[in-house]
Amino acid sequence: MTNSGRASLAVVGAGPAGLAAALTAADRGVRVVLLDAGEQAGGQFYRQPAAALNARRPQALHHAWGTWKKLRGRLAAHVAAGRVTHLADRHVWLVEREFGGGGGFGVHALIGPGQTGSQTVTADAVLLATGGYEKVLPFPGWTLPGVITAGGAQAMLKGGLVLPGRTAVVAGTGPLLMPVAAGLAAAGAEVAAYVESTHPADFVRHSATLAANPAKIAEAARYAARLLRHKVPVTVRHTVVAAHGTDRVEAVTVAALDTHGRVRPATRRRIVCDTLAVGHGMLAHTDLAENLGCAIDATGDPFVVTDAEQRTDVHGVWAAGEATGIGGAVLALAEGEIAGHSIAARLKGAEPRPADWVTAARTRTRLRRFFAALDTAYAPPAHWAEQVADDTVICRCEEVTAAEVREAVEELGATDLRTVKLLTRAGMGWCQGRVCATGVAGVAGCPVGSGKRPFARPVPLGVLAAEPEC
Ligand SMILES: Cc1cc2nc3c(=O)[nH]c(=O)nc-3n(C[C@H](O)[C@H](O)[C@H](O)COP(=O)(O)OP(=O)(O)OC[C@H]3O[C@@H](n4cnc5c(N)ncnc54)[C@H](O)[C@@H]3O)c2cc1C
Repeated sequence: MTNSGRASLAVVGAGPAGLAAALTAADRGVRVVLLDAGEQAGGQFYRQPAAALNARRPQALHHAWGTWKKLRGRLAAHVAAGRVTHLADRHVWLVEREFGGGGGFGVHALIGPGQTGSQTVTADAVLLATGGYEKVLPFPGWTLPGVITAGGAQAMLKGGLVLPGRTAVVAGTGPLLMPVAAGLAAAGAEVAAYVESTHPADFVRHSATLAANPAKIAEAARYAARLLRHKVPVTVRHTVVAAHGTDRVEAVTVAALDTHGRVRPATRRRIVCDTLAVGHGMLAHTDLAENLGCAIDATGDPFVVTDAEQRTDVHGVWAAGEATGIGGAVLALAEGEIAGHSIAARLKGAEPRPADWVTAARTRTRLRRFFAALDTAYAPPAHWAEQVADDTVICRCEEVTAAEVREAVEELGATDLRTVKLLTRAGMGWCQGRVCATGVAGVAGCPVGSGKRPFARPVPLGVLAAEPEC
């Protein structure tokens, strides 16, 4: 284990939120250590092609490139001046309070792709900007090779400059599907179908909120135009009911939904493809915050609770971006900026001045409303769990089927996710329920709740053994 010395602020996550916070705080004289699991800064939205690929036009796969260039330039300047230390390829597995008996924090990170060594950064304040990850609901065939998440397809394109296959179906629900379908088509894949379970009519009652965000509407229109240009067949109020294939996916079956979210009889249609990019929304990364004891709102999909300054209820811990609720890159930038102002002031013992972040606060209010409206409209089909056949594997790490989960509830009396886990092992594998929790909960008919895992990443025993006792 190595110790990296003391930073005033440790930022976990170098996506839009973490970058905005780190740069704003550094502009105000705070010494920042920015830790991120990625090889390069940018997070999901500004994901960069691997350096070894020497991409000549990385901007071709991006939008808002101008904003990224400014962020990248500011980061380089702060790094050169020694105000920001950027620790790439660091996977933070735990943030400890009162570290080493002092009043600060210990941020423990695994190093590099092997993740066998650990490094600890100590800091007076911590900002959690860990973003979100995709929710995928199970259906027969979802574990076949060639079935990937929509964001996974996007990551292959943006980070690896590769297409996941030649003929893709993009399916599920949520705003991420559109850029993915448009991106795959623009990069040369045949997108055989873009299948969205929501219907445009579901947005009508939110029209005032949506109209208050013309930039977002224009963004959607640009994607729609690109889909049209590439002749991508768009199907709404439909869902994937199965993926088929032996060694890998060869086709998918889609079906129409009624207005209650049930599959309509005699509407099944088979589409030949070699890739299914599927996603049903996003979930916030809350592990580090939960371990620190920060309040989590788990009434729906869990997120870290923050106040107007982006402070959590744990003294010295701020959170920004999608860790505090799913809302896109622009909202993440605004929240990061607000957090940066607040941290810089409070570390100096001063009262922050909300006048410093009026524009960011307005953006935050507007976009939180916008994404709350989207979230209601883009819900997965209400009866998706009913269509999951008994032999469908729900937890892929432990190979637990839907039948086993149903037996735990109907025969053995489980009423919550934890009991289902104890009775079936669903969620006990490598991913610790990060992939399967929503699927298991849906099939079991119980709430997801919050994960409460001891560490944010699987940690080698050797690393734990080398940790000094406090
Ligand atoms: C797979 C995926 C694809 C997406 N594609 C698009 C798209 O095409 N278009 C679009 O408009 N929006 C897209 N989004 C949404 C968009 O990326 C987000 O709205 C935006 O990036 C949120 O910014 P953020 O800073 O909150 O989080 P992120 O950009 O997700 O950044 C979080 C960062 O934290 C790091 N991190 C997380 N946990 C740890 C840890 N324990 N230790 C160290 N580092 C950690 C991650 O590596 C990441 O770099 C995508 C999201 C995902 C998950």
